[in-house]
Amino acid sequence: MARLTVISGLNRKSAAVFLVESAGRRILLDCGDGLEPGEHPDLAGLGRIDAVLLSHAHVDHAGALSRLGEIGNPPVLATARTFGFLPAAERPVRTIEIPEAGAFRLGDLQFTTGRCGHAPGGVWLHLRTARGGFIYSGDISLESPGMPFDMMPAAATLLIDASYGDRDTSLAAQMDDMAAAARSGAVLCCPAAGRGADMALAMEKCGLDVVLDDVVAAEFAAATGRSLPATDAKRARPDQVIIATASNAESGLSRQLLARGGFRFIFSSHVPKASPACALIDGGNAQWMAWNVHPRRRDILALADHCGAKTVLPAFVDMKEAPVLSAALGSRLRLERETEI
Ligand SMILES: [Zn+2]
Repeated sequence: MARLTVISGLNRKSAAVFLVESAGRRILLDCGDGLEPGEHPDLAGLGRIDAVLLSHAHVDHAGALSRLGEIGNPPVLATARTFGFLPAAERPVRTIEIPEAGAFRLGDLQFTTGRCGHAPGGVWLHLRTARGGFIYSGDISLESPGMPFDMMPAAATLLIDASYGDRDTSLAAQMDDMAAAARSGAVLCCPAAGRGADMALAMEKCGLDVVLDDVVAAEFAAATGRSLPATDAKRARPDQVIIATASNAESGLSRQLLARGGFRFIFSSHVPKASPACALIDGGNAQWMAWNVHPRRRDILALADHCGAKTVLPAFVDMKEAPVLSAALGSRLRLERETEI
């Protein structure tokens, strides 16, 4: 028998921490930190963990790795690119690389991975179980122009990224809207190891000249094999379309340009209440525009059908705010803390 226990990540956008117990092993799926200041997952009482499996390097999935000592200093499994994106101070001592699209074993447990379309090097995870298989999606997107999504295999239980709840607009339309809004110059903010290269490709396709900060320039070169002009806090001009980290002007070039003043900001990530982005948007001094990096409602339903899932746990969302998705999932919807998988 295998059992899933939600430590954090159900009923709202928060740290991803899920426990799977099977064949005598206790595995953590992701080890994220909270997105609001002072918000940290409760790892006390988890006991000894045998291994941590990371879906990708974003803070809400990997930001609590500095606390591995609380759970017995287990080895961490992730793809080579995901390890590469972790801040040096948070890189675990014991690491095991897993494939971006392939299979691996942890003792008697058999896992399969596929590329997630949400972050470079990010993966979804499938675990073979006696009850028909289990998938943890991590964060996924089926719409990225530059990051592939590998279709998932069959699974009876699906723990799936539903961050957007009922949102169902397409990324293609959002790209056109953002290009129109940015045409006379804007700072388009994005996270490291995320959609920066996609944003550059999309703005280029809409006929805009873009400049990139060092982080996005490196990601663009890795994704496309070519380069676009890089900029910095001194050379950037308000009439340019600048793609810059970090997502909410809390660090990086976006923060430096905010301090310099005179730039228009467009944000498109989840906006924590204490972030500079939140204050700017609330004060009417910046725009927030949608840019899908998570699945639309139709994608979640299509994946649930494709996998033949009998049980679907929508993660990272308050399902009270997603009535259409709730109704469409029907008897498959599950929001319990513990599930046999
Ligand atoms: Zn993510």
